[in-house]
Amino acid sequence: MVFWHGDAAEQVALLQAVARNCTCSSDDGIVNGSCPAHRALLDQRWLDHVLFYRHIAPQLLAEEFFARQEPPGFPSQEHVDVALADAELSG
Ligand SMILES: [Zn+2]
Repeated sequence: MVFWHGDAAEQVALLQAVARNCTCSSDDGIVNGSCPAHRALLDQRWLDHVLFYRHIAPQLLAEEFFARQEPPGFPSQEHVDVALADAELSG
């Protein structure tokens, strides 16, 4: 037996994702739950990981995209331009 530890909205999102990735084959149109997406719903560890990464995704995205901004004390573009101009003049 598995348990979903997320909220109702997260459960709906999970089931929609499973439906989008479902590859269950049935000639009669009945979903038989044999595809990897459906089988994953029976794996407690997988469910817990999905929920964990869903919760930390905003933090990971922020770290990925905002980490490229200049940290405090990093030279501004103006300083870089001046340094490049100095290098060209001296070289
Ligand atoms: Zn399926």
